[in-house]
Amino acid sequence: MNQKLRKTVAEQLVRTFGPGEPLILGRAPGRVNLIGEHTDYNDGFVFPMALDFEIVVAGRRRADRTVRLLAVDLREKVEFSLAEPIVFDEHFGWSNYLRGVLKLLQQSGAELPGMELAFAGDVPLGSGLSSSAALEVATAIVVQRMTGFGIERPALAKLCQRAENEFVGMNCGIMDQFISMMGEQDHALFLDCRSLEYRQIPLELGAYRIVVCHSGVKHSLVESEYNRRRQECEAGVRVLAAHFPEIKALRDARPEQLVACQNELDPVVYRRCRHVISEDARVLESIQALNHGDLVRFGQMMNESHDSLRDLYEVSCSEIDLLVELARQVPGVLGARITGGGFGGCTVNLVAEEAVDRFTERICRLYREKTGIDARIFISKAADGAQIIE
Ligand code: ADP
Ligand code: MG
Repeated sequence: MNQKLRKTVAEQLVRTFGPGEPLILGRAPGRVNLIGEHTDYNDGFVFPMALDFEIVVAGRRRADRTVRLLAVDLREKVEFSLAEPIVFDEHFGWSNYLRGVLKLLQQSGAELPGMELAFAGDVPLGSGLSSSAALEVATAIVVQRMTGFGIERPALAKLCQRAENEFVGMNCGIMDQFISMMGEQDHALFLDCRSLEYRQIPLELGAYRIVVCHSGVKHSLVESEYNRRRQECEAGVRVLAAHFPEIKALRDARPEQLVACQNELDPVVYRRCRHVISEDARVLESIQALNHGDLVRFGQMMNESHDSLRDLYEVSCSEIDLLVELARQVPGVLGARITGGGFGGCTVNLVAEEAVDRFTERICRLYREKTGIDARIFISKAADGAQIIE
């Protein structure tokens, strides 16, 4: 928990907007997905954990219908009135995450007062660690507390996802908002993206650590390829469903059913489907491995996940593959894989505590030598999900 962040946000709100009602403070974390990639929009399984990096939002009511928003880190503020419909802001992109949440709360029946909201964070932004979901979720819980609007936490996470889909215009799955809302310290969260049933799984890593490496690159392919992958998966489901009507999403398909349809499937679509179907199975196997304290097996699943994302789903890139390759050469590393949507962003690694320094030194040095880019390393325990700070 970042005490300094809380103090800064509260102080900056009062300094910028002057005295007013007592503040409500809330925090929500970023996340890393341990395994289960590109399964969420196929109704499948994911296994993320909340990180020790967070967005803090401070808020208070106003007596009128004016909303004022302050991005402390960017030193930018915006103002609008609730007397008119909440609209997309072309200029201050960050404000749309808050506007979207406010708009969807309104649509769900919340009576919004005028308010002031200020926020800051230490989630690296645009890195695939989901600063956007943390911002939405922290905003949502603060405004919920302010208004007393009754909504269960999973439904509030869903509302935040819709804010990002419908208002911001980013077609993400439910994972990011869900883990940011529901995370639990020292646990990772198994989520069924179809039913939204979830289980907190103790993350007993003993002498091992979760280490995230940021590649420092984000290729522009992300969005177009993401949409294409979704279409390829849908195309696969159409072929499979013609033979097996019970298949409504790739989540429902078994490997032998895919093989039975191989001749009718475009080879690319076949590979995409193979990844998704095997990835769902790997999530389940990873959780079994954790439950048995078998970290070696867990690491193997991470490695297989990466290889599948690289070769079958084709969402990796040379920088990420290099980070993974370098990681796997370090003794004490049980698993290394890409995490997030792909084409850059981060890897997640399972590393022996005693090897972390060696890992960090070697990866940073060799990655820099080969690419000229500085990798960034984050080590985090599994943190709690969103909370109002009393
Ligand atoms: P990610 O969620 O992987 O970090 P996104 O592109 O989805 O990347 O979200 C990043 C966006 O979220 C930023 O461009 C910015 O608009 C907003 N954001 C996140 N954190 C902050 C922050 N601390 N201050 C201002 N804006 C932020
Ligand atoms: Mg995001």
